[in-house]
Amino acid sequence: MESSAKKRIYLSSPTMHGDEQHFVAEAFDTNWVAPLGPNVNNFETELAAYTGCGYAAALSSGTAAIHLGLKLLGVGEGDVVFVSSLTFSASCNPIVYEKATPVFIDAEPDTWNMSPQALERAFEKYPNPRAVVVVHLYGTPAKMDEIMHICERHKVPILEDAAESLGSTYDGKHTGTFGRIGIYSFNGNKIITTSGGGMMVSGEEALVKEARVLSTQARDAARHYQHSKIGYNYRMSNIDAGIGRGQLMHLDGHLRLKKAIYKRYQEAFADIAAITMNPLNPKGDANNWLSCMTIEQGSKVTPDMVMDALEAENIESRPIWKPMNLQPVFAAYDFMSHNESGISVGEDIFNRGVCLPSDIKNTDADMDKVIGIVRGLFQK
Ligand SMILES: *Cc1c(COP(=O)(O)O)cnc(C)c1O
Repeated sequence: MESSAKKRIYLSSPTMHGDEQHFVAEAFDTNWVAPLGPNVNNFETELAAYTGCGYAAALSSGTAAIHLGLKLLGVGEGDVVFVSSLTFSASCNPIVYEKATPVFIDAEPDTWNMSPQALERAFEKYPNPRAVVVVHLYGTPAKMDEIMHICERHKVPILEDAAESLGSTYDGKHTGTFGRIGIYSFNGNKIITTSGGGMMVSGEEALVKEARVLSTQARDAARHYQHSKIGYNYRMSNIDAGIGRGQLMHLDGHLRLKKAIYKRYQEAFADIAAITMNPLNPKGDANNWLSCMTIEQGSKVTPDMVMDALEAENIESRPIWKPMNLQPVFAAYDFMSHNESGISVGEDIFNRGVCLPSDIKNTDADMDKVIGIVRGLFQK
């Protein structure tokens, strides 16, 4: 018998295992209830070992990690920073915190990430950006060979926003470890969570040490409270880091489950010509954080119809990120399109796309239900 209230099926909600509580309890027992402590140090070391990033600084959010990362790359007032346009606003808000100028770079259709050809054209128009922020959307690695080649030629550092792509690899190397600086997010909906948190990573120890200083109010090495620069309260708490350590032990399991969800949708919709799953990168291995679909132009089924039909059954889904170049708050900033004319790639994906329920706690029956509803719309 089905219970009368329909259980909600989620897009991507936290999945806890019990190991998290062990590390949190240890923090309580030893009274390390502070934005420093053994869980913080160990979470950094363990994440660095997992990703091969070199060094890591545990912070209060992915956004804080981007903010400090930009500061460490010297981004300041009046600087131009190139950033992926098809992303969440957290990728570019910190550029504006620093009174720098974002220039939005369109997506390309192969991976939905930064278009190398739009990036090339951005360099023609703005030859001296201070940094390039590259996002790996929904866990699919960007075309890093092409993007890094262009950035190296112009001697501009990359800040890799791997908030959504922890565990994804490109050429066998973890996303987040290609740029001079990388960042991860542990927000509640990401592939692993600390409830809220982030990590700034780099192969350069000095940058990560400086991130730790800046994130703890930038105290000088003196007994008294002395400050020679402006600091932030951006450090991760030892409690949250305990959750993160427990989660990291299960990241490989999460990756397997996310991949299975993607494969299941892909197979289930294979015979519906109007549906295409979000692209993967043949040079990489995605973490499949969210499984998304696009609907062929001209189909009588719209993304709103899919989202409404799912919501009617208490199933969460959502639109693709609305590109930053279409956001009222960023209307004043320039945008470099992938196409020479017509609609941008990002806007086209936004218009035709839906993020499908990708929660790793979804049962086979949940997945069948979602698939049945979507297929039903296209078979009418
Ligand atoms: C989630 C996310 C962030 C921000 O991370 P928070 O930890 O929520 O601050 C940044 N960039 C992208 C692409 C994200 O999806």
